[in-house]
Amino acid sequence: MAMKGDMLYAWTNDAAIKEKAELGGAVTALWKFALESKAVDAVLVITKGADLYDAKPVLITDPKELAKTAGSLHCGTLLLPKYVKKFLDGAKNMKIGVTVKGCDTMGFIELARRKQINLDNITMIGVNCGGSVSPISARKMIADKFGVDPDKVHKEEIDKGQFIIEYEGGHKGISIDELEEAGYGRRSNCRRCKYKIPRQADLACGNWGVIGEKAGKATFVEVCSDKGAKLLEGAIKSGVLAAETANPKGLEIRAKVEGAMLKLGEKWRKKDFTALGAKMWETINKETSRCIKCYSCIENCPVCFTAAEALTKGSIMVKPGELPPNPMFHMRRFAHISDSCINCGQCEELCAMDIPLALFSHAIRVEGDTTFEPKLGKATYSN
Ligand SMILES: Cc1cc2nc3c(=O)[nH]c(=O)nc-3n(C[C@H](O)[C@H](O)[C@H](O)COP(=O)(O)OP(=O)(O)OC[C@H]3O[C@@H](n4cnc5c(N)ncnc54)[C@H](O)[C@@H]3O)c2cc1C
Repeated sequence: MAMKGDMLYAWTNDAAIKEKAELGGAVTALWKFALESKAVDAVLVITKGADLYDAKPVLITDPKELAKTAGSLHCGTLLLPKYVKKFLDGAKNMKIGVTVKGCDTMGFIELARRKQINLDNITMIGVNCGGSVSPISARKMIADKFGVDPDKVHKEEIDKGQFIIEYEGGHKGISIDELEEAGYGRRSNCRRCKYKIPRQADLACGNWGVIGEKAGKATFVEVCSDKGAKLLEGAIKSGVLAAETANPKGLEIRAKVEGAMLKLGEKWRKKDFTALGAKMWETINKETSRCIKCYSCIENCPVCFTAAEALTKGSIMVKPGELPPNPMFHMRRFAHISDSCINCGQCEELCAMDIPLALFSHAIRVEGDTTFEPKLGKATYSN
């Protein structure tokens, strides 16, 4: 019987899922069982869009359609909870399964706190996440650092600290550290992220800790809730999934890798926040003077949707015809989200003027946490 706290290696018996899966195909097999058993009405997952760098969300209701959604796309910059709020009525009347990274998990929690999403109707299968790469910078990095035409690449993966590509004529891997020292690699918010194993999802899946003959062939599954335990047990009983207890040595390795990733996140925070330093407000003022008032930062933020609503009603901070907007527009937005920025990076990634907005709001959030956390107690997740 599966229970909260269990640590397992799992792999699918479904041939179509196995072929396309990143590892053991446990995530996709679990969704197949969830749809077939009607534990969920639909599954919101990711699939390849126009090319390898285009991660596209899809809503699946037919289990036969699931196999094509298996596999990891590291160049996507999506945040799924906002789609559930915007297009799926906050899961008010529909049970939805979602594959989530740490930032997606936090987005769901923040939107549920604001009563925009009904978490009772959401099942989350988490994937560990060492970080993703922005599609534009991935293309540039592959051309500049790998010397390969990005359109000739048919597979990318992140393994053992390397970004690896397979392309017409060969394969090549370069260490993420080297890429990041040269200004490429993961998105800057992902570098600072300290939520690598999404334990607030119902299950947390990944490759860290899978050793021995199962390495690369099984998915590591940590059971994080009773709902997750029930789903896992049902999938095993149905025959779509097989599992065994994780190797104790694998557990140790997984804990070590997670620890090393958290330290790396801390290192990047120090680097980025120290660079901002005492001149933070001056820098914010200067950078936001490029703002063209497209409001993409508001539109794509999972926590500042009330600002979007206020803006549509008109605001004294943003006068029609005035560019850039009064600096207080951005200051007020930062203040508004300062206690709940989840460092998902959407504001920065989708900013038409490349303003490092995520850096600013993350710095403000962390400064606030550092100052007030002793009074407030420990946050439920570490972003
Ligand atoms: C960006 C990214 C970084 C990762 N980094 C690590 C890591 O450092 N360490 C580690 O242990 N594991 C990491 N993983 C998880 C790992 O790659 C596998 O997804 C996981 O082990 C499940 O394997 P599987 O064979 O069971 O999944 P599959 O059955 O192949 O299913 C994969 C699921 O992930 C979804 N998916 C694909 N791309 C994305 C995306 N960009 N955002 C959200 N969902 C997506 C698919 O739609 C599918 O539902 C990462 C995954 C992603 C997406």
